[in-house]
Amino acid sequence: MKALLLDIEGTLAPLDFVHGTLFPYSAERMADFVANNFNALSVTIELLASEARSDPDADDRIDFGSPGEVAEYLNELIARDRKSTALKEIQGRIWRSGFENDELTAPLFDDVPGALARSHGRGELIAIFSSGSILAQKLFFSHTTSGDLSGLVDAYFDTTTGPKREPSSYIKIAEMLGIGPADIFFISDMLAELDAAAAAGMRTALALRPGNAVINDPGPHRCIGTLDDLE
Ligand SMILES: [Mg+2]
Repeated sequence: MKALLLDIEGTLAPLDFVHGTLFPYSAERMADFVANNFNALSVTIELLASEARSDPDADDRIDFGSPGEVAEYLNELIARDRKSTALKEIQGRIWRSGFENDELTAPLFDDVPGALARSHGRGELIAIFSSGSILAQKLFFSHTTSGDLSGLVDAYFDTTTGPKREPSSYIKIAEMLGIGPADIFFISDMLAELDAAAAAGMRTALALRPGNAVINDPGPHRCIGTLDDLE
């Protein structure tokens, strides 16, 4: 094995960290953040307005010159779990201040820091593939319950590379890492992601973590309780 490709939620950290902690954290601070940074956010708010124009569910009476209405619309997007580049940028800034103020800490499972350090020590490449933005992934590894682990991570991929359920995304990642798919171990809690990685020729393991959905038939994928089971 030459590289580990790792999912975050349900694999390295509890499944509900994003929806249970990060999303509410940004929603609670949205109104103040937008009001206090309204001028500095003008380019992002223009992007938000143009996204809204092509969103059939968006109310076309929103006043994008009003901080209150902008914040309310952003929170609606969070509640609807909408993929919005403008929302992601604003959430990323709110999370950054939260991680930097120590109000947010990335809750890694206990085995993760040691396993990453050993893997790194053996010269294996460590890469992340998560639907959270690369900015959010970097914040996550810089502020974990075991301190700053960003030095252990060699590469970050998000859905700008491609969807997590498409084999082509994994082929692209292998190319970008410069490592053959057969030398890459992909670990995730989602069967559809593992199927896509396996179709691209990667080795795969299903992470069985507390809080994950119970999977009765893991198909061809190996099952692991912790990263130590790989060794
Ligand atoms: Mg996951």
